[in-house]
Amino acid sequence: MEKSISNRFYFDYNATSPLSIKVIDFLRSGDFLFGNPASLHSTGKHSKKFINETKEYLFRTFQLDSNEFDLIFHSGATEAINTIFKGNAISDFKNNKKSLFVFSTVDHQAVISLKEDIEHLGHKVIFFSVDKNCEFNVKNLIELINSEKKEFSEVYLNFTHVNNETGVIWPLTLAEEIKKSTNAHVYVDSVQSVGKVFHWQNLSSNLDGYFFSAHKFGALKGIGFTFLKRTSPYYPLLTGGNQQAGLRSGTENAMGVYSIKLALEHLIENQNLNELKKAKEMIESEIKLNLASNGEVVCSQSNNRNLNTIFFVKNNEKAESLSMKFDLNGMDVSTGSACSSGIIKENRVLLALGYDSNQARSCIRLSFSPYLNSDLVPEFTSKILSVITR
Ligand code: PLP
Repeated sequence: MEKSISNRFYFDYNATSPLSIKVIDFLRSGDFLFGNPASLHSTGKHSKKFINETKEYLFRTFQLDSNEFDLIFHSGATEAINTIFKGNAISDFKNNKKSLFVFSTVDHQAVISLKEDIEHLGHKVIFFSVDKNCEFNVKNLIELINSEKKEFSEVYLNFTHVNNETGVIWPLTLAEEIKKSTNAHVYVDSVQSVGKVFHWQNLSSNLDGYFFSAHKFGALKGIGFTFLKRTSPYYPLLTGGNQQAGLRSGTENAMGVYSIKLALEHLIENQNLNELKKAKEMIESEIKLNLASNGEVVCSQSNNRNLNTIFFVKNNEKAESLSMKFDLNGMDVSTGSACSSGIIKENRVLLALGYDSNQARSCIRLSFSPYLNSDLVPEFTSKILSVITR
């Protein structure tokens, strides 16, 4: 792994990743796959061939059966989440059905923000909460869904496999249990799993769908994909030229699609997740020691954490000031979102975990490359501590 990128120490891999070297090499070769894959001429067919190759590769990699699942390419998970939930809300509305949508308080904003539109169509949205470790009681959730669902035709659930802020993993076995016990349509937000948890390729064929954003693991921006079970309800939000068998109209982004294959090949050939785990834990234990009673690593008591994320609170120091220090010291880290006056807002996920509003404005997320290794730990740790200690 390169130590730094353009002289910056980039610790914000949960936001996005740099382009994979395999993608860069392909682009350097000069073949930009510009032909429209729907065209019948040779240039169009050339693009289509790369898309088909990527499709086969993704089914192989994630071990799903193309007779059982469709694979839809789109701009990314925000589009996928909107398409699945708003699409089903529209379709049920047209069929005079009222449905129940179940989200969590720590889902990504792309999920949370759907509430208004879904309710506008006459459906109900409920949010289940989590404890301080970003975990939930599956029996209680099943009971909640079963008690709420009686007056509704369908139940749709978003299941965030790995939380983008805390890095806490909800095992897919829980999603399967919920599906089995409630008959809900269960869709998995898989955006943060690739290269950040062990066995990220193992998807269960019992669930309804999986959303991915490929810029999170080295592919180009503006491309993502969804595996969708053929028996699951689906209503395309984007209609038009009937591309992708009508599942998502719009000219297919051949270069973006192929960059997914290149990025995943590189990741699978080069990842060393045991090494990532070890290195992250070394950095984290130094941060904990250093923070002592002046703060804490969020969810550090959870037994289900991903391999690359350290989210911490430093008491009595605002995220604006912390982030400025990281920036001035050459490190890119995440502080959540700022409002128009530049003040960093309270972190919504921290509030949902029960932190107070001061703490929710005093947090930093470090998220490392899948290629982090213990050789880099001393330098990374000393840079990070130089900011935290001041
Ligand atoms: N879901 C999760 C868990 C995410 O982390 C993100 C992006 O950060 C998204 C969905 C949305 O992905 P995108 O911004 O690529 O559309």
